[in-house]
Amino acid sequence: MTEPLSILNIGGHPKDAILYAGGTMARHVERGDRVTILSATTGMSHHLQAIDDYRDSGDLPDIDALIAERKQELINAAAELGVTDVRYLGHDDQVVLPNAQMVNDIADVIGEIQPNIIVTHWPYDTVAAHALATQMTLLAIEAASTIRPGSPYAPTGGDTGGESAQLFYHVQLGRTNVLEQLNLRVPNTIIDITSTFLKKSAAMNQFKSQHYGEDSLQQRKLGEAIDGGMSAIHSRVTYAESFIAHNPEVYEFLPLSDYRRNLTNRSPEEQEKSRMQMLLVD
Ligand SMILES: [Zn+2]
Repeated sequence: MTEPLSILNIGGHPKDAILYAGGTMARHVERGDRVTILSATTGMSHHLQAIDDYRDSGDLPDIDALIAERKQELINAAAELGVTDVRYLGHDDQVVLPNAQMVNDIADVIGEIQPNIIVTHWPYDTVAAHALATQMTLLAIEAASTIRPGSPYAPTGGDTGGESAQLFYHVQLGRTNVLEQLNLRVPNTIIDITSTFLKKSAAMNQFKSQHYGEDSLQQRKLGEAIDGGMSAIHSRVTYAESFIAHNPEVYEFLPLSDYRRNLTNRSPEEQEKSRMQMLLVD
């Protein structure tokens, strides 16, 4: 096998790195790659359980305890995927502009782990914390390469030389509104997560503050609507996560993955079964 990859998966909120790319991360861990999950913010403004409790009781919650709980949820969820390196930067998620401290914190992690691949949100996502996480990631990539010009990690074909890294954006909509559709979000990279989907389910079930949980209907919806959606169906696999590569990939020849060739070589019956199979059945 080639040298293991270092992958940095960045979410604007604690659960995002797993919701949008958890199955893919589990596959990379199984292959022996090194995965780091980073949440830039505490996600406190999206602590749905706490918001419900406050509405019902009128009692202000213990914020520090809730932040610790959300951090622990992310650590537990990452562990379900086999990811042990979790960076919870702990910034307020009510950010409205890129924040120098957050950029520096992300740049420090990039400098430390030298990722070959970074995964984050689509830059035009209309959830502010998502788009800002991406803007700050792009700034952090620049900062990390400037701070460490000798680094093997270099950003988007910039002038620092060295080996180019790749950046992937999630494809799922942050919200359904007209602004999200103005920039075409067409996936050009699909990862079959059928083999790790149950790990992803177990991971998502750790986010109890988000109304996920053992018997959560949200979990089932995630599997059947998001991961089992059109990208999976068109690829003739059961569950998939979809991405857009920021940089064009470089090859010696026009690419066709061995995986795709194997998928298309299956019998029509096998392909049909893959499309129709659901793992989260009653
Ligand atoms: Zn989010």
